[in-house]
Amino acid sequence: MTRRRAPMTRSQQMARVRQRDTKPELQLRKALWAAGCRYRKQAALPGRPDIAFIGARLAVFVDGCFWHGCPRHYSSSATNRPFWIEKLRGNTERDHRQDAELRALGWRVIRVWECEVKQDLARAVSWVLEALGKTPTTVSEPPVPYGPPLWFTCSCGSTDVVVQSVTGPGSLNIRAKRRPEGATLRCRHCDTRYERPVHHGAASTLPG
Ligand SMILES: [Zn+2]
Ligand SMILES: [Zn+2]
Repeated sequence: MTRRRAPMTRSQQMARVRQRDTKPELQLRKALWAAGCRYRKQAALPGRPDIAFIGARLAVFVDGCFWHGCPRHYSSSATNRPFWIEKLRGNTERDHRQDAELRALGWRVIRVWECEVKQDLARAVSWVLEALGKTPTTVSEPPVPYGPPLWFTCSCGSTDVVVQSVTGPGSLNIRAKRRPEGATLRCRHCDTRYERPVHHGAASTLPG
């Protein structure tokens, strides 16, 4: 009889450093390769980008929803909350710092959420191809409705927002029964920070 290894607890998973070669990351790499892109994995650059186009100086990260504060899917742990909140804040601050370091070196940065790759791979591929000045090779399908609407839009109009911390347990997934009470958000476009209550029920866009 073979003994199955006990699955890692969430704490054990979280204690690991940025996960590499996650499924969405592999999916995006594979699709880019199929589209004729040649890249480096985890190049020796700030943040060790998941995918780096050396000639074009374009760095692509596939950010896990839980690790990097996806405004759609972040779910907070009910146990040891201060630790995870500090961890999330640390991760988002580090992402921000590494983006700035890359830009200072003349690189452009694209961050794709894991859920975006899962929900619409072709779209994620087209973002990268566009940034490389290439035309997507595949004929695009009619646009796929992309998940539930974001519950938060920055006053600058951007929805590229990360969650830095939440108060109360629950998930930011619009369909979740239990959602946190509030969240600290940071706009990745203009770097404005907000403290906002999390809306329950139907998704809504809050004024900045
Ligand atoms: Zn997500
Ligand atoms: Zn903004």
